[in-house]
Amino acid sequence: MVTGRGTVSFQIKGSYGRRAPPKFTSMLKPIVFWNLTSRCNLYCQHCYISASPRGWAAELSKAEALNVVSDIIELGLPLVTLTGGEPLLRDDFWDIAGRLIEGGVKVAVSTNGTLISEDVAVKLAKLGVSYVGISLDSVNPQFHDMFRGVRGAFNGALRGVESSLKAGIPVGLRMTLTRYNVGEAPALVELARSRGVKRIAFYLMDLTGRAKGNPDLLPTREQLTGFVNSMIRVSEEFKGDPEILIVRGNFVGIHVADKLATSKDEFLEYIQMISAQGDCGRKTISIYPDGSVKPCQFIDWVDVGNVKERRLKEIVSVENEKLKPYMEVYKHLKGPRCSKCHFKTICGGGSRSRALAFTGNPWEDDPLCYINPQEIAKRWDIREGDIGKVMGN
Ligand code: SF4
Ligand code: SF4
Repeated sequence: MVTGRGTVSFQIKGSYGRRAPPKFTSMLKPIVFWNLTSRCNLYCQHCYISASPRGWAAELSKAEALNVVSDIIELGLPLVTLTGGEPLLRDDFWDIAGRLIEGGVKVAVSTNGTLISEDVAVKLAKLGVSYVGISLDSVNPQFHDMFRGVRGAFNGALRGVESSLKAGIPVGLRMTLTRYNVGEAPALVELARSRGVKRIAFYLMDLTGRAKGNPDLLPTREQLTGFVNSMIRVSEEFKGDPEILIVRGNFVGIHVADKLATSKDEFLEYIQMISAQGDCGRKTISIYPDGSVKPCQFIDWVDVGNVKERRLKEIVSVENEKLKPYMEVYKHLKGPRCSKCHFKTICGGGSRSRALAFTGNPWEDDPLCYINPQEIAKRWDIREGDIGKVMGN
């Protein structure tokens, strides 16, 4: 958004910009985040799915998983991110990924990186995997290993990055922001640049899985404001190399739009770009290891169906009453800030899991939203109907 240059994103989704929002996904052609397994060789404090070496869920059988693959292909869904737990722990990972790619679906892999040896990276490249996202929570190996519960995790992740790059696969780093690592973001950008990594996705921590028991890890609003401002500066300075994404808080995009725009029209163009990205249930869906389907990876308390019982095409449907609230979250927001916010159709109220963890009600306000939407709306003279217009309503 800051530079208009999406390096890896453009390769995956095609180019888009302020005046040409992406058309890669739609409500009924969502991106799928497929949590193939709840097993993982690491044990991170902030794990949103409580993955562990033994796992907790009976996984889909290979036959069940391949049925899901057929449905994804039939539905013409554009992109599947295979994740977990650690997706490479599933023996049939290669069959699942291979069939998806053969069927014309782009496949990304979200992994802790430790199992990507040179051979594995070459195999991923030959298969045609579009992107590998590898998590690093710190530039400090001891801190990363402590946080991720296994000594050597940092070096393993970096080996995975290097092997993937060597094999020619676009690689991104992912950092989940906590109050302890948010200050390291500029250093992570330096690390990415020194290694030739072209993309970093910073995740605002969600409070599901093990993270639910660790709400004190969340960064403060002040920390977040400083972080976003520093990332705007870094993006401008390095001209989008690496591309920087901030995920799980669309209010950040509104802050960035407010900072960058020089006119109301420009502000609205940025807003349109944010709305085109989608969010939980709106242009994204998640399949959990046991086959249950969630509006996204970070709403683990809601099932909108199970692929063991129903075809995916019946679940991803406007007729699905369980999914509907997540396709139009803004209609259900009850918190004093979000329910009155000018930008709620675009933002979707930030994170439902953070609202649930802090208030006991998933439709309440997201405690991490640090912007003042009234003030921003006033600054840009946002009137009733302006936002509807950019949303195409
Ligand atoms: S956050 Fe990722 S690497 Fe860590 S335990 Fe969970 S699935 Fe494994
Ligand atoms: S008040 Fe709520 S809807 Fe508005 S920007 Fe913040 S999180 Fe989003």
